[in-house]
Amino acid sequence: MASHGFWSLGGDNAGTNTGSQSPSTPRAWCQAAAQKLSGGIGSKLCALLNVGEVEKTADPAAKQPPQTAAGSCGCNKPCTCTKPDVVFSDLYSTDLLPALDGDTKTMTFLQEVVDLLLAYIVESFDRETKVIDFHYPNELLQLNNWELQDEPATLDDILISCRATLKYAIKTAHPRYFNQLSTGLDMVGLAADWLTSTANTNMFTYEVAPVFVLLEYVTLKKMREIIGWPDGRGDGIFSPGGAISNMYAMLLARFKMFPEVKEKGMSSVPRLAAFTSEHSHFSIKKGAAALGIGTESVICIKADECGKLIPADLERRILEAKQKGFVPFFVSATAGTTVYGAFDPLIAISDICRKYNVWMHVDGAWGGSLLMSGRHRWKLDGVERANSVTWNPHKMMSVPLQCSALLVREEGLMQNCNQMHACYLFQQDKHYDLSYDTGDKALQCGRHVDIFKLWLMWRAKGTIGFEAQIDKCLELSEYLYNKIKDREGYQMVFDGKPQHTNVCFWYLPPGIRYMEDKEEQKKRLHKVAPVIKARMMEYGTTMVSYQPQGDKVNFFRMVISNPAATFEDIDFLIEEIERLGHDL
Ligand SMILES: *Cc1c(COP(=O)(O)O)cnc(C)c1O
Repeated sequence: MASHGFWSLGGDNAGTNTGSQSPSTPRAWCQAAAQKLSGGIGSKLCALLNVGEVEKTADPAAKQPPQTAAGSCGCNKPCTCTKPDVVFSDLYSTDLLPALDGDTKTMTFLQEVVDLLLAYIVESFDRETKVIDFHYPNELLQLNNWELQDEPATLDDILISCRATLKYAIKTAHPRYFNQLSTGLDMVGLAADWLTSTANTNMFTYEVAPVFVLLEYVTLKKMREIIGWPDGRGDGIFSPGGAISNMYAMLLARFKMFPEVKEKGMSSVPRLAAFTSEHSHFSIKKGAAALGIGTESVICIKADECGKLIPADLERRILEAKQKGFVPFFVSATAGTTVYGAFDPLIAISDICRKYNVWMHVDGAWGGSLLMSGRHRWKLDGVERANSVTWNPHKMMSVPLQCSALLVREEGLMQNCNQMHACYLFQQDKHYDLSYDTGDKALQCGRHVDIFKLWLMWRAKGTIGFEAQIDKCLELSEYLYNKIKDREGYQMVFDGKPQHTNVCFWYLPPGIRYMEDKEEQKKRLHKVAPVIKARMMEYGTTMVSYQPQGDKVNFFRMVISNPAATFEDIDFLIEEIERLGHDL
């Protein structure tokens, strides 16, 4: 298999066209290109390559409608660059490449789009900007003509559509956007996403994605090393999200125990039972439904006050299921529950799994990233005993959506479980090592390239950079917890320091704070969070999530995965909740 150093820069891959590594090279290349190419194309490329530099020096200007003055293309030598007089209102998509002589128009058009995006990005990080320009659906429908038409639109219209779409988009990079587990926008990750879209290929075979397949190999191995599997051995895949990764795990567990299920289906298999905590993610049940196991075969195990699965209850329910004639085949422990951020006790759970010979899965979609933190990885002690692990870099590591990995301890199982040998894709007589044709391991046929964002960010930050980013988010949540735990008007949903960045709390406005009738108080409190949230969205100042859980009425679930957030933003959130909720 590929050596670790394969994709290190420089070294043995000294081809003729790999010279874009040193910072001065693009410029040199662009100068050469400017001389070679006609119509000023080289100079335009030159301008494209220098966008970043322009951005740095002219921050406020970035918010203005983009304009490249004549001669300001960014070339560091005299040139004849002028922005060509392209009038987009006279042009259509058919004037762009592959149209004959479409290159200048294409570059000007794309430059226009890039300028738009750059302005949006810079604005997103500005605290004076709204997180969201909220409109009700019927209102938003009327604000623009979103209908699809028979006739083509001009490129001018296309640019207007791009602007309108961004105008009403949620600024997920905004330092005060806390609504989801996936927040923030990483600049290198974004660059990687742009590159991925430009390369526009499919992950299924080495022949169409040579570099991306190798990067997936290298990265999955690294992730398995971090889990603690010897030499990073095992298998894995990047899937379209944690829910799908969890379903893959369930599929593998069933196949491992009953390989005949692949051909014969569920009628060849006894009644199965899966186990997971009552606080686990709904995707476990969804997976059971999709795989024909049925949601009633997913047995929910009691969690303690802090949301951790109670191992004794797990063992009791396994025995009970066996007695009823079910075959326990799958336990999904959660490392970082979605609402409380709780970590199930993995060592105790793995002991039970071993005793009853059940596949142990760890759903670390949210909490798996803590494995990268020396300070916090103890919360996943025992993860190396798992048969499979879900880990979503698109959550705590802020890799642009989507990026989710399923890691599997046993090699070859995914291949056996999912392969169909489509001979139009996976010809057995190809001239390279076929183990790099990873596509047949997947349930999908075509598969999006999700790896490059993660890999490039990892390169840019180093493992220690990710660690620092994750530690900082946990520090911020601890700050929030310490700030509100004894503050007047606040009540924590459960006692004790949160284990992840989830901080769950009620805010009690003065009007209900001292109510004698506790039932009435509960009823009123249930309505507080939704109203404050609605007001946050109307003002566009911040966004944070809320939900009920079990018998607990609506509470705020604050989560921090946004590397742009600071202590001041946490202060702001508290002030804003009080400002918007004071009168309720
Ligand atoms: C978010 C989450 C998932 C689902 O991940 P997606 O990428 O949204 O599909 C699964 N499990 C847990 C614990 C999660 O928090």
